[in-house]
Amino acid sequence: MVRGIVQGVGFRPFVFSKASRRALHGRVLNNASGVLIDLEGDASDIDHFVSELQSNPPPLASIESIERLENLVPLDYRDFQILESDSAGRKFVPVSADVATCVDCLRELFDKANRRYRYPFINCTNCGPRFTIIERVPYDRENTTMQAFEMCNDCRAEYENPLDRRFHAEPTACEVCGPRLRLLDRQGQGVAGDAVALAVELLGAGKILALKGIGGFHLACDALSKEAVAQLRGRKFREDKPFALMAASVDAIRAFCRISNNEIALLESAARPIVLLERKRGNAIPRAVAPGVNTLGLMLPYAPLHYLLLESFERPLVMTSGNVSDEPICFRDSEAYQRLNNIADYFLVHDRPIHIRTDDSVVRSFNEREMVLRRSRGFAPAAIRTAFRFERGILACGAELKNTFCLARGRSAFVSHHIGDLENLETLRSFREGIEHYKHLFDIDPEVVAYDLHPEYLSTKYAQSLDSVSDKFAIQHHHAHIASCMADNQIEGEVIGVAFDGLGFGLDGKLWGGEFFVADFCDAERIAHLANVPLPGGAKAIREPWRLAAVYLQRAFGNNFTELDTPFNDGLDPKRWSTLRRMVAAQVNCPETSSMGRLFDAVSGLLTLRSSVNYEGQAAIELEGIAERVATVFFEFQIDGNEISAEPVIRKVVEDLLDEVPIGQISARFHLSVAHLIVNVAQKAREERHLNRVVLSGGVFQNIWLLDRVTDLLRENHFEVFTHSRVPTNDGGISLGQAAVANARLQCGRSN
Ligand code: ZN
Ligand code: ZN
Ligand code: FE
Repeated sequence: MVRGIVQGVGFRPFVFSKASRRALHGRVLNNASGVLIDLEGDASDIDHFVSELQSNPPPLASIESIERLENLVPLDYRDFQILESDSAGRKFVPVSADVATCVDCLRELFDKANRRYRYPFINCTNCGPRFTIIERVPYDRENTTMQAFEMCNDCRAEYENPLDRRFHAEPTACEVCGPRLRLLDRQGQGVAGDAVALAVELLGAGKILALKGIGGFHLACDALSKEAVAQLRGRKFREDKPFALMAASVDAIRAFCRISNNEIALLESAARPIVLLERKRGNAIPRAVAPGVNTLGLMLPYAPLHYLLLESFERPLVMTSGNVSDEPICFRDSEAYQRLNNIADYFLVHDRPIHIRTDDSVVRSFNEREMVLRRSRGFAPAAIRTAFRFERGILACGAELKNTFCLARGRSAFVSHHIGDLENLETLRSFREGIEHYKHLFDIDPEVVAYDLHPEYLSTKYAQSLDSVSDKFAIQHHHAHIASCMADNQIEGEVIGVAFDGLGFGLDGKLWGGEFFVADFCDAERIAHLANVPLPGGAKAIREPWRLAAVYLQRAFGNNFTELDTPFNDGLDPKRWSTLRRMVAAQVNCPETSSMGRLFDAVSGLLTLRSSVNYEGQAAIELEGIAERVATVFFEFQIDGNEISAEPVIRKVVEDLLDEVPIGQISARFHLSVAHLIVNVAQKAREERHLNRVVLSGGVFQNIWLLDRVTDLLRENHFEVFTHSRVPTNDGGISLGQAAVANARLQCGRSN
C-alpha cells in the first residue's frame, strides 16, 4: 500500500491512468491524512509506479511525502478503481487556488476542429477557476457557482471518464451547456453580435470596458492610447497610482520592459500574477500608465477570454481593478453596473457567478527569488507551510491597511487573499465573511485569536468582539513583521530584526516604524529606533510629506531653516508653516513617531518631489524612482544609546542641495545612508548578542534600491540575511506573524 500527502488537484485520475497502464490493481481515495493508494501487482511494477509518481507528479499536485506500507494481506483486486472519499477525507482535501488556462486547453481554444473552439470558459482538471467559485466543501460541482449549469451529454461523458483530462473537472463546460458572454452598453442593453469581436473593436476605438474575469471586474482600455488612459484615470479618480497591463506574450512584453529568466518564469507561472518589471527607456507605453516609477506591472493572459481578446487586439491592454479609487474591486454583476457605470462605456460580462472576490496578485523578482507583494488570485488559499507546528487553531486578524487574515493549524498557515484597506463597510464585510468561509473550507474552529496592538484598527475591534475563543493575544505590529519574515523563511530562534514601515502602534503608545529588535517568535526587545519626531496633523502629515520635511528641517537647523536657499523653501507657504510651527510647539494633534517611512517622505518632500501624495507610499516610491543607480557617498546617522537621529543626514541632504548635486544623486546617497545605518546597528548587535542572522521586514523594504544595497552590504559583512518571499513584506504579511507569535506564547505558557 502506498500513502502520500499530496496537495493539489487531479491526483486521483492521474494515479488511475498510471496504474491502469501498468496493469496494477487496487484502489485510490482521499482520506483524512492524504491520498491513499492500495496497489497489488508485480513488485517491480509497483516500484516503477512509485518512482514515477515522485519524479513526475501531475501538474497541480505537490507531493510532500510518500510512505509505503509493505506486507499487507492481499485483497485480490480485479481492477483499479477510484473510490469516493469518506467525508473526513473530503474535509481535508485542500481547496486549490485558481489556475491559468493550461496549454492543452489553449490548443483546443484555437483549434477549429475542437468542439470548444473559441469557447471563453474552456477549462480542465489542470486549469480553470477554483477558489473563486467554491461556495462550500467538499469540492463538487453542486458546491460551486457552476451548480446552475447542467452538463450536456458530451461534457458529462468526459467528466465521468477517468482517462479523460476533464474527469471530475468541476467547472467543465462547453458552448452548449456552460456560461456565456454578453456585451452590454451603459444602459444595460445587450449589444447584438460576437461579443469578443465587438469588444476588440470598441477597445480599438479608445473605449473603456468593464470585463468580468476570474476574481472580479477589470477596467480595460488600449494601453498605447494616451487619450484612453487619461480618460480612465479621470473617471476612476486615480490620479497617479500605476495601472497594471496585460500583454499577449513574453515577446510582446520585451518591447517595453527588461525581463530576466526568473521574471519570465514568474510571468508564466500558473498563478499568473502581475510582475513588476523594469521599464525600458523610450518605450511606447504612455507615462500616464505609471507616472513617477521605473517599473511597469505586467501580466500574461490567464483566462480564455483574455487570450481571445489579445489574439485579435494585438496591443497591450490596461487591466486595472474594477473599482472607484480605493474601494474594493467589484465582483457581483449588479454592483459592477452600479459602481462602474460612470467609468466603463461597455460591460463584457458572463453568467458564471464569482463567489469570492480576489484581486490580481503582485510579485517581483528579487535576487532571482519570488517576492510576493500582494498575495491573492492564483496563490490564495494555498497554505504557507511552517517549520513549527500550530498546536491549536489560531485566527490572526492582521493589520488595517492591505489586510489579510490567517487561520492556522498543524504546519499550515492559511493566509487569506488580499482583503484590502479595512476602512469601509464593504471591505469589513469581505473580512468577516472571508474568515467564516476559510473556517469552513479548512475546518478550523479557532480557539485562539491574535490581533494588532492598535486599539483603533477595525481588525482589532473585530478580534476583541469574539467571545468564542479562549485566548486572545495583542501582538505589537513590528514584532509581527519580524515573526512573519521568520516564518516565511522557516527559521527559528533569536535574530536581529529590522522593521521599517509607515506606522504601527508601539508598546509605549507612540507610532513606531524605524525599529531594530533582538527577537524570536515569543519576544521582541527593541534595541534601537529612529528618534521620535512629531507628526503634525496625524493622518494629514502622511498625505502631505512637506509637513515631515519641515519638521525635520526645524530639528536640524532650528526655525531659521526658512532662510536656507533651497527649492523646498521657495515653495513653502509661510502661513501654513507658521500654523504647523504652532501646532508642533503646543504639541496639538502631533502624535510622535519613529517611522522610517516618514523619514523617506521627509526627504522626498525636501527634494520637492511632491508636497502631497495621492496614494499610500507615493512620496517614498518616487524618491526611489529618481535615485541614480550608483552612489558611493553616504551620510552617517547619529546613534546615541537606543536612539538614532536623522538630523545629521538631513543637514547633509541640504548641503548637497545647496551645492546643486542632482537630486537623483542625493536620493541615492540617502538610500545608501539608510543601508549603512542597518549594517552599523546590526554589527553592534552582533558584538553584544552574538547573533548573526538579520531579518528585514516592513513596507519600506518594498524599496528595491534599498533592499538590494542593504542585503549586499550585510552579506559582505558576513551576516545571514532573510527577506520576504512567500508573504508580503508590507502589512499583508502581518497576519502570519501574529499567528506565529501567538503560537509561540501559548507554547511558552504566556497568557499575553
Ligand atoms: Zn486545461
Ligand atoms: Zn457541455
Ligand atoms: Fe507595517
